[in-house]
Amino acid sequence: MKQKKFILQESELPKQWYNIQADMVNKPMPPIHPATKQPLTWEDLAHIFPTECCKQELDTEHAWIDIPEEVQEKYQYYRSTPLVRAYALEEALDTPAHIYFKNESVNPLGSHKINSALPQCYYAKQEGTTNVTTETGAGQWGAALSYAAKVFGLEAAVYQVKITMQQKPYRSLIMRTFGAAVTGSPSMSTRAGKDIITRDPIHPGSLGTAISEAVELATTTPNCKYTLGSVLNHVALHQSIIGLEAEKQMQMAGEYPDMVIACFGGGSNFGGIAFPFMRHNILEGKQTEFIAAEPASCPKLTRGQFRYDFGDEAGYTPLLPMYTLGHNFKPANIHAGGLRYHGAGMIVSQLLKDGLMRGVDIPQLETFEAGILFSRTEGIIPAPESCHAIAATIREAKKCKETGEQKVILFNLSGHGLIDMPSYDAYLNGDLRNYELPDEVIAKNLAELNS
Ligand SMILES: *Cc1c(COP(=O)(O)O)cnc(C)c1O
Repeated sequence: MKQKKFILQESELPKQWYNIQADMVNKPMPPIHPATKQPLTWEDLAHIFPTECCKQELDTEHAWIDIPEEVQEKYQYYRSTPLVRAYALEEALDTPAHIYFKNESVNPLGSHKINSALPQCYYAKQEGTTNVTTETGAGQWGAALSYAAKVFGLEAAVYQVKITMQQKPYRSLIMRTFGAAVTGSPSMSTRAGKDIITRDPIHPGSLGTAISEAVELATTTPNCKYTLGSVLNHVALHQSIIGLEAEKQMQMAGEYPDMVIACFGGGSNFGGIAFPFMRHNILEGKQTEFIAAEPASCPKLTRGQFRYDFGDEAGYTPLLPMYTLGHNFKPANIHAGGLRYHGAGMIVSQLLKDGLMRGVDIPQLETFEAGILFSRTEGIIPAPESCHAIAATIREAKKCKETGEQKVILFNLSGHGLIDMPSYDAYLNGDLRNYELPDEVIAKNLAELNS
């Protein structure tokens, strides 16, 4: 019988994360303080984030960073996650390619975000913090953080985009079930929120408003730290657990990937699965290809510009060197909420600039078509975000069919879609559409950054 699933013993789980910054030939350019225009130090960040996360953020020296034992213990609740050979999908595509996926949907919260929520809460707790706060859009990050806060005995306050909270009530219910205080943003609980509501009483909220409120809460409340679920280097570091496990599991399967594929929002699940393999490209000259799949309606990797830009809509964060569509970019309201972000993380941006990876942009309808095929073959309903990785994988597998090449493709299944069924409902009813994004719109948006 063919082996379908590869799992690690507890004793084989990684005890260190991998920090690709140490091995990069061209290091990421430093984040810049918007007022002083000086490179940021970890001390500049420490009044907002847990200190250890700030140090990890700017660490370009240590390739291996110990996973605290308490975090390893919590990882053991759900890790390793399975590496699965997608035989049924291969058969449906009639492709000679070997397709594997790493299933990060198998944990209490259903997405990879918990891999970073746990260490961020652990470090906050270690420093004597009692409260953590964050913003969330669709709610995957907020849900992971609410759970992780409870695990380490912290209080969590989550600002969720008001309109999403009303349209998709389930994730805010999940957060509240784990004990978090969830507030629709903009709210009257912060100065930033009050200002926004005074100007616009029916403001629907955005990630920008929610970030402003969460950062204000963290900076004005003693013993409260802010946390972030993507984009930043320390988040990608924590997510490297995905690729480090996958490396061992691919060995068990007796193969090595020719291609590694993941969907792309800010880059954490992509970096998580890709960087441990990219290490062998950098150090040993392996030729694995790395593909980040983004929505055609939010194409910062394929059509954005490499430049310094703010990480948030409101312009509160440091200036980050990134591929960006402009922090003023308003992405179309696609169902893959986790991929509606204007920029790419600093590490990924440098790697893309240096040609170590590439991006591919995929229209919404193709992603759902891929998600449906995956559901019907592998029996797992993927998150709308993950459907982008599946669609990119299917494109590559079809190319293999044409050329007869037996490539080994590994993709990351970043989450399941069971809380996103209304999106599938819309697709199955024929109510979804693609969003065109003309070059002029991107150019105009980027031009505004300079004015
Ligand atoms: C948040 C999210 C993403 C996008 O974030 P990255 O940091 O780019 O990984 C992708 N998939 C799922 C399921 C998510 O929740």
